[in-house]
Amino acid sequence: VEYDVVVVGAGPAGSMAAWAAAREGCDVLILERRAEIGVPKQCAEGISARALREAEVPADGPWIAQEIRRGVLALPTPDGIETFEVGGIRGFVLERKLFDRWLAIRAVEEGAELRLLVEARGVIREEGRVVGVETTSGSVRAEVVIAADGIESRVGRSAGLVPPLEPEDLCTCAQYEVVGSVEIEDAFTIFFDPDRIPGGYAWVFPKGSDRANVGVGCRGKSARELLNELLRGPLSEFVSGGPVELNVGGVPVCGPLERTYDDGILVVGDAARQVNPATGGGLNAALICGRIAGEVAAEAASEEDPSAERLKEYQERWERELGDTFEAGLELAEIVSEVSAEDVVEFLKDVEDLEGLLRSSGLLEKHWWG
Ligand SMILES: Cc1cc2nc3c(=O)[nH]c(=O)nc-3n(C[C@H](O)[C@H](O)[C@H](O)COP(=O)(O)OP(=O)(O)OC[C@H]3O[C@@H](n4cnc5c(N)ncnc54)[C@H](O)[C@@H]3O)c2cc1C
Repeated sequence: VEYDVVVVGAGPAGSMAAWAAAREGCDVLILERRAEIGVPKQCAEGISARALREAEVPADGPWIAQEIRRGVLALPTPDGIETFEVGGIRGFVLERKLFDRWLAIRAVEEGAELRLLVEARGVIREEGRVVGVETTSGSVRAEVVIAADGIESRVGRSAGLVPPLEPEDLCTCAQYEVVGSVEIEDAFTIFFDPDRIPGGYAWVFPKGSDRANVGVGCRGKSARELLNELLRGPLSEFVSGGPVELNVGGVPVCGPLERTYDDGILVVGDAARQVNPATGGGLNAALICGRIAGEVAAEAASEEDPSAERLKEYQERWERELGDTFEAGLELAEIVSEVSAEDVVEFLKDVEDLEGLLRSSGLLEKHWWG
């Protein structure tokens, strides 16, 4: 066997897994199809302070664009836009291009080998077990393959673990990074208007007072046209200026795969649909699950036992850490799909302590974490 662990994809999940496995002393190879890590950015770059801590990422590096202390929920009413504020949020807006790059560098410094411009085409199976991957530049054999290859997950699909996404499982997103002027500098601002934005919401995530990620995720509509329309309308209350970047991408909002392991293989991050179905956030889970995947793969490889039975520990551990979050996210997404902006305004008007309510119901902790 050439490597203990082969990780496909140098996104946050893959680099985290590679770092964790290399730390355990394993021979690790990362395959990345792109020429540059973190580019293009397909993210609003919001992350919790807790996730950064757990991932042992310093919160004062150049990959931090903005510190966040609160959330603002904005909704349309017949008299204009009404806003509600929630404190107690500790988070950041990242520079993902620098963040992803730093995570990959950390893995390489720990001893992992990174090959760029190599695309994995699918798994190699022998006697029913995954023993490596077929790539655009030959085959690579390993005790354990970690599929961290994002939403498309060619590797996860070829292993029979990742089913194709149905249209209802997918939120399509369009975002501009805008340079101009940002109204609220220390908050994640969410604009909720199900009549206009079916199955999603719009956001303004600030990167200082003169830059922000402004985007929308929705279902069954062109996200880009909708974004242009919202920027001329309600979002203009929160941000103005011109785009310096357009980011498009899909978010899997169906909840995590029921099975994320098999003989010789683990699936992690967006590939495993480890995304909070209510918020569409996947970074926190990519880091946490990536780390667990790397640790379990390393232990299994050193014991020379990459059987499904051994690798099942990965699933047990991530379910313990994040199972409740995904569960609550699915429930919240269901509730949100049935309410109108008017219902939410009516409800929130009577709430005196929104942060207290979210905390006591566990919602703040669960969703913010996931
Ligand atoms: C518009 C938008 C906004 C978002 N905003 C947020 C947010 O604010 N906060 C948040 O938490 N989440 C957000 N998300 C989700 C978040 O970006 C993802 O959950 C996160 O990037 C998942 O990390 P990952 O490592 O699993 O996958 P990715 O980041 O997609 O990384 C996968 C990597 O694998 C590589 N790859 C793919 N296939 C192959 C192959 N066959 N061979 C070799 N390499 C391959 C890719 O090039 C890529 O580098 C957003 C998503 C979108 C689309």
